[in-house]
Amino acid sequence: MSICYIALGSNLGNPLEQANHAITALQQLPKTKVADISPFYRSKPLGPQDQNDYLNAVIKLITGLSPIELLDALQAIEKSQGRMRKDNRWSARTLDLDILLYDNLIINSERLTIPHYHMKHREFVLYPLFDIAPELILPDNDNLHDLVVKCPINGMKQWN
Ligand code: ATP
Ligand code: CA
Ligand code: CA
Repeated sequence: MSICYIALGSNLGNPLEQANHAITALQQLPKTKVADISPFYRSKPLGPQDQNDYLNAVIKLITGLSPIELLDALQAIEKSQGRMRKDNRWSARTLDLDILLYDNLIINSERLTIPHYHMKHREFVLYPLFDIAPELILPDNDNLHDLVVKCPINGMKQWN
């Protein structure tokens, strides 16, 4: 079994309901257990600013799925919750599920970059990850605590 951290984001169609629905779907994945869920945060969108705030959270999974099986499963959940793939990156979405970390693996393939490529600079990833994994060391030996200290919070708040 492997330990994975998943970043969840939503800014359309009642983000709180989307998040809870996605967590239920993660709990139902084969060979997979939801081990922890961070608090929910409210953050400003990346890219185009004419969209709603995001709900962000990080979820810890214990899974027997391979990285690519997990990506397929996450994309199926996104699709089942009405995610439309748009040409422009960072446009509004009902649900985004990214694999941040998968054990200590480093993967650079066509479909997967793990650790997730920009996680070290995103407050809406680092802070919730730190909430549930304060001692975490990344595969390149960077210490999560040091990354959080260096990352401006950028107006992010608790969801409520
Ligand atoms: P960003 O990647 O900047 O967070 P995004 O989440 O909006 O943007 P998507 O449109 O959801 O981007 O995903 C684009 C592609 O990213 C997916 O088709 C997937 O193959 C690829 N991808 C690469 N690495 C990962 C990962 N670690 N987790 C999820 N998707 C990934
Ligand atoms: Ca993303
Ligand atoms: Ca994504």
